[in-house]
Amino acid sequence: MESADVTGAPLFVSSDAVYRARVTAILVAGANPFFDRVLSAIAEREPGIVFHRDIGSAPPADLEAFICIRAPEAALPPLPRLRFGFSPGAGIDGLLACKGLPRGLPLVRVVDPQQARRMAQYVATMVLAQWRALDALRERQRARQWIRDLPADESSAPVGVLGYGPLGRATAKALAALGFCVTAWTRSPRAALDGDVAIASGVDALAGVLATSRFLVVLLPLTDDTRRLLGASRIAQLPRGAYVINASRAALIDEGALLDALRAGHLGGAALDVFATEPLPADSAWWTMRNVTVTPHISAFPRPEFVAQAFVDTLRRAQAGEPLDNLAGFAG
Ligand code: NDP
Repeated sequence: MESADVTGAPLFVSSDAVYRARVTAILVAGANPFFDRVLSAIAEREPGIVFHRDIGSAPPADLEAFICIRAPEAALPPLPRLRFGFSPGAGIDGLLACKGLPRGLPLVRVVDPQQARRMAQYVATMVLAQWRALDALRERQRARQWIRDLPADESSAPVGVLGYGPLGRATAKALAALGFCVTAWTRSPRAALDGDVAIASGVDALAGVLATSRFLVVLLPLTDDTRRLLGASRIAQLPRGAYVINASRAALIDEGALLDALRAGHLGGAALDVFATEPLPADSAWWTMRNVTVTPHISAFPRPEFVAQAFVDTLRRAQAGEPLDNLAGFAG
């Protein structure tokens, strides 16, 4: 419903109309099919939103929000109406890397429980394929061999999970439910046990976790503190034959050191979903490593509709001056 105020300017009186009248523009950085579905789902929910994909050097001054997968190269000019930055996934490293976002801008991420389940599925798939020797079984099938090896006990294959956020927790719990002895590593101190998952905390505890991990699962956020957390010396602390699964961010691990440890036989194998350069270049060494499973950053998509709704809810809360859910940090 529309009426006029004393100045004659349009005055929207339904709360939804007020909201729509105030929606201006969203700056979008990044492109892929998943992201396109997120933007379509936002547009279905809020047709009034204007998306700007090509920011160039002069984005519109009325931007209210910023959605980012990868940081734009260009520094942004002052954007006085900017309310928050929004990651269409669990990580905010893409937003943290954005040059020119105003210092202190709230950064919001998506916490989709289905994404956590999918990450648990991905990691469990990689651990079980290795633990149950799926490749060897297929080779024997091709050779028409019927060989019944006795299984080793899961307790002989401890799993270390670095990071106990929504994804690390779901993954650690799923592996523990499959019978593995799981130790999760966090930054801040916690109770030593969370159900059937043991917890180790702090930098001093890391060496112990590494030294006992037959499987090492990396599910940490990428921050200044965690970048290249696993270099050559920490990789060397893993037991010989250990299997590394990284489905978080490539820069957490020194890729060259990982490659060397795999080639030298110190590590038994790896499953990698994330790479320093994505898409992985055709001449990358990773494609041809026999003991490495390469997947194209597909371990755990959130649901596009869930992401879109989270964005719309965040925008409404920001416009109403309410505290934001899933606030993960601040720019600068
Ligand atoms: P969170 O950011 O919620 O992880 C938080 C955990 O990391 C906590 O246990 C926290 O410890 C710990 N942590 C943070 N900083 C440090 C530090 N400096 N040292 C030690 N521990 C630290 O991560 P999520 O569970 O949401 O996601 C995990 C990763 O997966 C992220 O990198 C995300 O980007 C990535 N991801 C990858 C996807 C893919 O498709 N490949 C999809 C979705 C996410 P404390 O609680 O003590 O602070």
